[in-house]
Amino acid sequence: MSHTSSYLDKIFTVADPDARLRKPGDLMNFLTFTAGQPLPEGAAIGDIRKIPQNTKVKIDDIEIVRTGTSGSIVFGHAMSLNGTTEHGWTSTRNLAGKFVNETLGELPPAPGAGKFGPNAAWAGGSFLGQRTLVEIVDVKLEIERLALDTLEPYLALVKAAATSNVLVAINSGFRSYPEQKLLFEGFKKHLPGFNTAAPPGTSKHQNGIAFDIRVAGGDGDPVYEWLKKNGPALGFIRTVNREPWHWEFDKVKAAKAVAKGTFKTANVNV
Ligand SMILES: [Zn+2]
Repeated sequence: MSHTSSYLDKIFTVADPDARLRKPGDLMNFLTFTAGQPLPEGAAIGDIRKIPQNTKVKIDDIEIVRTGTSGSIVFGHAMSLNGTTEHGWTSTRNLAGKFVNETLGELPPAPGAGKFGPNAAWAGGSFLGQRTLVEIVDVKLEIERLALDTLEPYLALVKAAATSNVLVAINSGFRSYPEQKLLFEGFKKHLPGFNTAAPPGTSKHQNGIAFDIRVAGGDGDPVYEWLKKNGPALGFIRTVNREPWHWEFDKVKAAKAVAKGTFKTANVNV
């Protein structure tokens, strides 16, 4: 199966009772019935076309429409399961699961990309090199990037959690130098909405090992409890004080934690 366009291999169920179809090539507008088309019962020319709720579909193509600074809508091209009938373009938010954790393809580094470019990895204040990134739908239905070399462990974590009916999904993955700089400056200026952030060049989010996983609080939260119990065996470990959401994929540190019967590095005490 393809890990970098995960939706291609799956069957989705239309969950929204109002799953409207979009105009091909003009996805922010809706598709309507026009004269000469067969009309379903109760529909009139000019009505917006929809995919009936509970229809099972395959998504054979996607388009991402950016809305504002960080917002985006992922549209999917829905086909019948046997691939012979086209339903058409609709928002993937109409599908069960809303496309959370679906991967949307690879972003290879551009030729000649510099150390402040979107694919540049950093650690400890040094530029490490360029990484191939993968776009993925986060828990807020926005698009994050993960480093291709830590994608499989992350998806394995998601899959293992799903068998316990726990949704592991991220709020933040890979960050470029300029993105980390913005977060650090917001934190330094105490701007609303900005958490503690490491100086640019030093965040583990810049080398592909850090994942901010949505947890609704600390102890007692089902996602956090699942991560504490199962994360280390899958290579994930908590490393930062006061950040129960921040987990790093580090097989060596995680194996040590497993041996010690813990889920965190020794520096973490709150
Ligand atoms: Zn983090």
